[in-house]
Amino acid sequence: MTLMLYTQTVEKLRALRLEGMIQALEEQRQQKDILRLDFEERLGLLVERQWIWKENRGLALRLQNAQLKISSATIEDLERIPRSIGRSNGASFVIRTGGIPPSVTRGRFLALVRNAGRRWRLHSLGTLPGRPRFGNGRSEVGFSTAQVPRQALAVTVVGRPRAGGRRERDLILRADLPWEQGPDHPSRARVDLETVLLHEFGHVAGNPRHVPRGCRDTPMVVGLATGEWWRSTTDFSYRACNQATG
Ligand SMILES: [Zn+2]
Repeated sequence: MTLMLYTQTVEKLRALRLEGMIQALEEQRQQKDILRLDFEERLGLLVERQWIWKENRGLALRLQNAQLKISSATIEDLERIPRSIGRSNGASFVIRTGGIPPSVTRGRFLALVRNAGRRWRLHSLGTLPGRPRFGNGRSEVGFSTAQVPRQALAVTVVGRPRAGGRRERDLILRADLPWEQGPDHPSRARVDLETVLLHEFGHVAGNPRHVPRGCRDTPMVVGLATGEWWRSTTDFSYRACNQATG
């Protein structure tokens, strides 16, 4: 798009009060990865952003009017993952909204994924319907039981580098687990979704290593049991930790 035409388009979008689309369009212009998506997918991302922008604006106004404090369920915890835990390659991903299990609401899933990605300094390009699929050249996050090894809660599959040094990095969660979507901590029967997202996004961000299980201040432990969680450096609980402190 030439600069002049682009400027006119943005002016018209602004006149139509499509601020969400303008923001998404600006972001797409900065993302080299975006050329992997075809026109309809890119348009879908713009429309999705406008939709979210409008929803958020409505929510903000309602909260203001009711003078409510934002509950811990909706607050965006922007505590970054400390560099001592892992580094970030700044990768981008698309969120797949198909196959979300009944124990997880779509809104909560999107909020957890966006938040966990942001904490690892990764960028969400928006949502697409359907399930994630390894091998399509696009980095995706979503639920799909078929592609996750039997004993795993989730898997991050990293492809070979392609032209431009980009790799496909798919974060795939098993759909058939008793997920705890929060904000409550998981019971002894449930797997904490936020912890698993923070762990797998660590792999997406380019950290392949695990640390042994134990009382560790990191989401990058080799295995997570039901009832365990790591949500921040001040909010984690591993069984070994509880035993150590009695
Ligand atoms: Zn892992």
